[in-house]
Amino acid sequence: MTADDWDGFLEAIRGAVGASSFTSWIEPLRFVDFKDSTLVIGAPTSFMGSYVSQHFGKKMLHHANAISPQVKALDFNVVTSAAKPDTAKGPRPKAGGDNSLSLDPELTFDSFVVGKPNLAAHAAAVAISDGKPACNPLFLYGGVGLGKTHLMHAVGWELRQRSPDLKLVFLSAEQFMYRFVQALRGRQAMGFKETFRSVDVLMVDDIQFIAGKDSTQEEFFHTFNALADRRKTIILSADRAPGEIEDLQDRIKSRLQGGLVVDLHPTDYELRLGILQSKADALLGKNPGVRVAEGVLEFLAQRITDNVRVVEGALNRLFAVAALTGCEINGDVTRDTLADILRLYDRKVSIDEIQRTVSRHYNIRLSDMIGPRRLRDLARPRQIAMYLCKQMTSRSLPDIGREFGGRDHTTVIHAVRRIEQLRRADGQIDDDLKILQRTLENGAA
Ligand code: ADP
Ligand code: MG
Repeated sequence: MTADDWDGFLEAIRGAVGASSFTSWIEPLRFVDFKDSTLVIGAPTSFMGSYVSQHFGKKMLHHANAISPQVKALDFNVVTSAAKPDTAKGPRPKAGGDNSLSLDPELTFDSFVVGKPNLAAHAAAVAISDGKPACNPLFLYGGVGLGKTHLMHAVGWELRQRSPDLKLVFLSAEQFMYRFVQALRGRQAMGFKETFRSVDVLMVDDIQFIAGKDSTQEEFFHTFNALADRRKTIILSADRAPGEIEDLQDRIKSRLQGGLVVDLHPTDYELRLGILQSKADALLGKNPGVRVAEGVLEFLAQRITDNVRVVEGALNRLFAVAALTGCEINGDVTRDTLADILRLYDRKVSIDEIQRTVSRHYNIRLSDMIGPRRLRDLARPRQIAMYLCKQMTSRSLPDIGREFGGRDHTTVIHAVRRIEQLRRADGQIDDDLKILQRTLENGAA
């Protein structure tokens, strides 16, 4: 068996274990090696490796053996450099059918959490659903996982609910290209043009993919113009602003800039926490037995920055583990289960940075922060800094203690508990912490 067989192998397992187990457990695995009749598989954490081996090992061996009869055993290793979760992947196109995306029932305005970073995009999406001409055509842009596709689905649902007979087409730019090329090949270019020019609503996701594809761009341009001239609803998305898409014809750029162009900003802590709370509520509804310890969602919102898809995937994995093992989702379970993801967001903030930022905020000397003096004016900022180290880095308690002038790990535990209490009881401390976290997140130290 070689790395080339891996995708086929995964597909076979997907059929055998079902989609949700597959996403939680099998997809994060990696091909490592095949030697001595043994297929060596990389898992992001040792927990996942042993879990997969126990629960799916037999099936996996069976399928590996079917693909390549030399495989006689499986071996699971921890691969610390596990690939970054594949965040660029949008919803998978439906197999077969007309190759356009169907609307996902989960992606509605109801399930979309609005915060400062996506306020404008959300407002524009609502307005275009209301038929406000000033918002049409709408061009949404922003980084991966910030909610562009979600908003497009939401508009789709809204429009369809208001007028069920609307002819609505929603597809990715790649699918647009694919269908166009197929049509050319089958000498059905006219049919293609007619299909697209007769729609009431056209939504094309990730339009940056047509950059550099000349005949597809050309066709897209004509489709766009034909629909825009008849005031049909058009929504496009891309990972950057129209003017910044390289290899896109200038006339297309300027045509796109003529509509309403709105960007989605990277998420902030508050928005991530809001999204986590809303997703956790939904998951708790489906898994009534699962319990989430206090502070876990805050921890995730702090540690996993930017990309909502990764935040969501992390929460799903935690719920899968909790549902299977019956344990509460607490800090330890979180760190263990998500070790691979957390590592990717690691080292963003160092203990040193936290100490400096907190000292500056409370106007004390760095040497006093680390030093032995126990004055309350020094002890409180020190506890706050320890708390932030625990929350924002993945360093162990003894490690943290050591960096604070060689203090014991029990001192750190005490500090963390104390600040947790104070944070709930004292609005001033909570505000301070929010400011400090934001400063540190933005790397201002
Ligand atoms: P993009 O298309 O910008 O890459 P998506 O729309 O696919 O991002 O969003 C990634 C995931 O995050 C989706 O599952 C989506 O439902 C979720 N998501 C993003 N933003 C929000 C939000 N504001 N509220 C709720 N879920 C969100
Ligand atoms: Mg998308």
